[in-house]
Amino acid sequence: MIIHNFELSNSVLNNFIAEIRDFNIQKDAMRFRRNIERIGEILSYELSKELNYRQVEVTTPLGKKNIQTALVDELVLCSVLRAGLPLHQGILNYFDHVENAFISAYRHHTSDEAFDIKVEYLAAPSLDQKILILADPMLATGSSLVAVYETLKKLGDIKQIHLVCVIAAAEGIEFIKNHFPENTCLWVATIDKQLNEKGYIVPGLGDAGDLAFGEKL
Ligand code: URA
Repeated sequence: MIIHNFELSNSVLNNFIAEIRDFNIQKDAMRFRRNIERIGEILSYELSKELNYRQVEVTTPLGKKNIQTALVDELVLCSVLRAGLPLHQGILNYFDHVENAFISAYRHHTSDEAFDIKVEYLAAPSLDQKILILADPMLATGSSLVAVYETLKKLGDIKQIHLVCVIAAAEGIEFIKNHFPENTCLWVATIDKQLNEKGYIVPGLGDAGDLAFGEKL
């Protein structure tokens, strides 16, 4: 797995990350969603540098110019519901012509600390010979992403996978490395060292789905 971690370079990205982590600022759900969307935009721009393009001739009012702009490969953007929705929008803001897929994955707790992952909803096109951008803001234990991948890989022979995450736990990255193809790229805004006993990232930011869309029962 090729890991691109952007917290080490100085940029406005760190400002957006600081705001989604900040206990007071993150209470503003609209700002939280918008910050996740902005992080999705920046990670998309970085990811876009790794894709292949064909030249297209563009006619201006004064002449013609060849521009490397048409994507060679077909892209599918799949987001994990529900926390992935603002990240999905951010990526979609930069990739105008991707196909879209949505999948649900939630933790089904068998005790206070133990849980398994339930994948239920799936709406996706064929993934055969396409590049898959898989968006999940919080890569914690990695078990949701692996369960999601096990479902998605039945939809065709995926050419390459780009994982887009906002915060990843080091332990989760180690776990998924053994389950995703070697040429998978991880685009992550920041990496935290720890998970707590409930599988939440520490210091992380809390529950990304609740912060974006409100607490659930
Ligand atoms: N999902 C979240 O929203 N937060 C975490 O810390 C882990 C998983």
